[in-house]
Amino acid sequence: MRAAIRSAKKGLSEGEVPIGAVVVFEDKVVSRGYNRRAKLQLASAHAEMMVIDRACKKFHSWRLPEGCELYVTLEPCPMCMGASLNARVDKIFFGAYEQKGRSLTAELADANLLNHKTTVVGGVLEEECSGLLTEFFTSMRQKQKEEKERKKRELETLAQGEMETAESEKGENE
Ligand SMILES: [Zn+2]
Repeated sequence: MRAAIRSAKKGLSEGEVPIGAVVVFEDKVVSRGYNRRAKLQLASAHAEMMVIDRACKKFHSWRLPEGCELYVTLEPCPMCMGASLNARVDKIFFGAYEQKGRSLTAELADANLLNHKTTVVGGVLEEECSGLLTEFFTSMRQKQKEEKERKKRELETLAQGEMETAESEKGENE
């Protein structure tokens, strides 16, 4: 999970929502990745999709060898759960819990879709993983607020200038 967190931080430095993932096989990291949705403008550019694709390429197989584990800093969405099942990931460890809406992670893991079940363990280094996300969204809101205030000040200065021009024109006409 530490490696996944490092990947998430790399995404953060590129202005992405910081979500990182790694695929591990026989205690070795075989692929690393992070969310790149903003950079690529692709809805599917989730960290899990990146690392699953890379791991498949590495093993030259859409079916990952038995014992592959996926580590991701945020609870996987249904798309990434689907990809994990398709690639036959054995175990998924995630950090922060997704709290918006209903979580399908556990249900999908147990559904025995494609004749494959995946074990899911949530809350690994949860505080660190969710802290990254909270920090990102707090600083994003702060930036939006600052931008709004800057625009407001600009408009006020503009309005002030127009008033002064109107005043001086009035004076000239008198
Ligand atoms: Zn996803």
